[in-house]
Amino acid sequence: MQLKLLTALVSAGLACGASVAAVTDKMIENEATATGNILTWGVNTQGQRYSPLKQVNAATVGRLAPVWAFSFGGEKQRGQEAQPVIHNGKMFVTASYSRLFALDATTGRKLWKYEHRLPEGIMPCCDVVNRGAALYDNLVIFATLDAQLVALDQDTGDVVWKEKIDDYAAGYSATAAPIIANGLLLTGVSGGEFGVVGRVEARDPRTGRMVWMRPTVEGHMGYTFDKDGNKRENGVSGSTNQSWPGDLWKTGGAATWLGGTYDTKTGLAYFGTGNPAPWNSHLRKGDNLFSCSTVAIDVKTGQIKWHYQATPNDGWDFDGVNEFVTFDLDGKRVGGKADRNGFFYVNDATTGQLINAFPFVRKITWASSIDLKTGRPNFVAENRPGDPTSSADGKKGNSIFSAPSFLGGKNQMPMAYSPDTRLFYVPANEWGMEIWNEPVTYKKGSAYLGAGFTIKTINDDYIGALRAVDPKSGRIVWEVKNNAPLWGGVLTTGGNLVFWGTPEGYLKAADAKTGKVLWEFQTGSGVVAPPVTWQQGGEQYVSVVSGWGGAVPLWGGEVAKKVNFLEQGGMVWVFKIPKATRGAQTAASADPKVAKSN
Ligand code: CA
Repeated sequence: MQLKLLTALVSAGLACGASVAAVTDKMIENEATATGNILTWGVNTQGQRYSPLKQVNAATVGRLAPVWAFSFGGEKQRGQEAQPVIHNGKMFVTASYSRLFALDATTGRKLWKYEHRLPEGIMPCCDVVNRGAALYDNLVIFATLDAQLVALDQDTGDVVWKEKIDDYAAGYSATAAPIIANGLLLTGVSGGEFGVVGRVEARDPRTGRMVWMRPTVEGHMGYTFDKDGNKRENGVSGSTNQSWPGDLWKTGGAATWLGGTYDTKTGLAYFGTGNPAPWNSHLRKGDNLFSCSTVAIDVKTGQIKWHYQATPNDGWDFDGVNEFVTFDLDGKRVGGKADRNGFFYVNDATTGQLINAFPFVRKITWASSIDLKTGRPNFVAENRPGDPTSSADGKKGNSIFSAPSFLGGKNQMPMAYSPDTRLFYVPANEWGMEIWNEPVTYKKGSAYLGAGFTIKTINDDYIGALRAVDPKSGRIVWEVKNNAPLWGGVLTTGGNLVFWGTPEGYLKAADAKTGKVLWEFQTGSGVVAPPVTWQQGGEQYVSVVSGWGGAVPLWGGEVAKKVNFLEQGGMVWVFKIPKATRGAQTAASADPKVAKSN
């Protein structure tokens, strides 16, 4: 009790002292053990989404109750995929249509909001989402749907700097949370369905000035930039035309649309890359590097240290953007990745060497297994969508059934890793698709697919399954099935808990060892965002954003029809265990408007 009081005093003191308000590199690097704030997407730079906090634990979680809820308002709601960041008693949370709110983290009182003025004609492929902000110094920085970066003063919401990433009219957009790595702001790009050129950019987070740029399509030149903005060549990524025929690399996709993770022990930033463009794989014979890969970039030099390609010559839109989460396995620094293609990969984090690969979904049609020696998939040739040029009229190739669907064994929703249980908690989906190829030519600002598709269910009773996966044995230790496809992320804690949300609106908590569901709360709309937890004033808080949307209602075919009863929303919820002396303070004391809408 005394210790708790001391902790409360210390954190209250920290909250008042202006000199400690600025977010430093050291604070971000120590995020894995600090519990008073959440400074980065991924909860720590490794992306483990693990918090050592244990006040809320398997024994107490049943008493978890809402403290406050805040509505994003506005007439347009749509998908809310953001992870909040928390610092100095303030929560910074992004919302659909490139909005950012600053809220008092313990009361939910609005401090300020920023609404980005979006032009007509933005082209986000998969809803008007945003996944979160980065914190650095006194700034909160996020990316917008018209492919810009905006840095705001944490206290006032004033714009400190604004930089254009690229031309939205050419199909570029940005939805990922930027990350801070070794004093640099790292961002990717979205737009793989429009033939953009994927890349990672590093900027000075204080000014937005570009430091280096590294393309993730083989053949493109990388650059460094000096203090005056002068650009210098920094080597081509790979070798031109090595893995791409003709000029296709010029519009090659490989968008880095989910952002990245960073490991201080390797000094490498890990970015996943999306599909090669166009989808029709017969047009681009070759591996099409560095699409559908994990690309490890030395943040000091802006050079690719290693890459691992999960789906060479992708023909199914198996974007390999999924987060590469580093952890220790048998005394080695490695990384785990649950790929959209249905396989879970474990690679050496320093060299990229493949250590293990196994399915984390039950049905995979495109490959029979992954060869651990070569690191390449054993393709099932007849399960690649056919070449339209070999059809009678040249207009439609052989249609095939593929599992997973292009919406993936896992998509944007980030998994979690617990160093306590040594398990990954993967939000997986079991579904398939009919897919066929069509002729296509590149046209700036137009969809560049050369494919048609319909998403299909596989099982009557479930699509989603939260799975505890052992990265060493490849075993699924437990699972909790879900009727709708899971589309939110996961959090795990030192309290032996796993938290995740469902499109049906529930935030759930399960025992991390057994998967037994111990608590759930109906948030009023579908949850497609990852939960977080932090401690303030000696109390542990849990938060998640609620608001159904994202790619499933837009592209989900038969699955979209199945879940079309789900309502949109836009709200952030915060929970804690009420103190015994304030036992009655639960939902009833929250904002009356909120109580009504629940
Ligand atoms: Ca894609």
